[in-house]
Amino acid sequence: MKIAFFSTKQYDKDSFNEFNKNYNFDIEYFEASLKLRTTNLTQGFDTVCVFVNDKLSADVIEHLAANKIKHIALRCAGFNNVDLSAAKKHNITVTRVPAYSPEAVAEHALALIMTLNRKTHKAYNRVRESNFSLNNLTGFNLYKKNVGVIGTGKIGAAFCRIMLGMGCNVSAYDLFPNKEIEKPGVKYKSLNELYNESDIISLHCPLTPETHHLINSEAIDKMKTGVMIINSSRGSLINTKDIIDALKNKKIGYLGIDVYEQEEKLFFKDLSESILDDDDILRLISFPNVLVTSHQAFLTKEALSEIAYTVFENIKAFETAGVLKNIVE
Ligand code: NAD
Repeated sequence: MKIAFFSTKQYDKDSFNEFNKNYNFDIEYFEASLKLRTTNLTQGFDTVCVFVNDKLSADVIEHLAANKIKHIALRCAGFNNVDLSAAKKHNITVTRVPAYSPEAVAEHALALIMTLNRKTHKAYNRVRESNFSLNNLTGFNLYKKNVGVIGTGKIGAAFCRIMLGMGCNVSAYDLFPNKEIEKPGVKYKSLNELYNESDIISLHCPLTPETHHLINSEAIDKMKTGVMIINSSRGSLINTKDIIDALKNKKIGYLGIDVYEQEEKLFFKDLSESILDDDDILRLISFPNVLVTSHQAFLTKEALSEIAYTVFENIKAFETAGVLKNIVE
């Protein structure tokens, strides 16, 4: 089994090479992302292993089929970047890693909240310059605050449990409520109620046509002034222009994002010596009450190990015509 591995970072190589000692797959790692211009690299391989910002559009998939690729092995949970009908048309199997460590992402959402609220990033920088002043570092107690969670699947449920542990009142909205998290105290509400009541709103639903730009001006108008919004799911859940307007007019008090609408041009790259032409990200990072991390919520040792194990099990099951548990259709 020959695997072409795209968008490779050193931490991917480290964890996949370690696990490959048990599988002995023939892997070639490419730093390049998979897109129309890089499909030639897939010649001679059976499987492509891709991540969140590889673009598997219909025309890319057509090239993969021409190069006899039979399996797209996603090493992430979300699959919004794959044209599934094109894959089906060309008889290419798509698998994913549905759950590698929900806690990794949920804990990062908490990290965004705690940093924005208690401003530890600012305190760290100040103290390093012998500035021990506390001015403008005032936060708020999380205890008893209303937290609204949109999407209570694996990650959303883990996040709910964490926030219940902090003593928050946790409300949720999901198309399919999860009875297991109602028992410890999560209350399902309508989206409007959740918007009206929440001090903090955290997004954990997938990106679908229905959730695209879920957080737009209309939704923001229904929220409390000063609300904190956290997005560790997918960038396009938020309309970036609308959120910038709401930050400018102070309707939104804090924004913490690990994902961004135009992230594929920026994230996972060192652009510190480049002139960025994305005015929206530059505007966002200019706000003192905005915290951006570059899609790192998944990045824990436990999650990387689970990802490598599940991807290899998916590939082994495909190769041996075994049961494909993690197929995406
Ligand atoms: P999941 O499938 O277990 O849960 C998703 C939940 O969203 C489900 O309960 C579903 O019913 C609900 N949902 C679907 N459409 C909805 C809608 N219109 N409104 C409200 N709820 C809706 O998925 P998960 O493992 O919890 O992952 C959630 C998302 O997190 C993924 O889709 C992915 O985009 C994102 N993610 C981000 C990172 C990261 O590093 N930042 C890592 C992994 C996953």
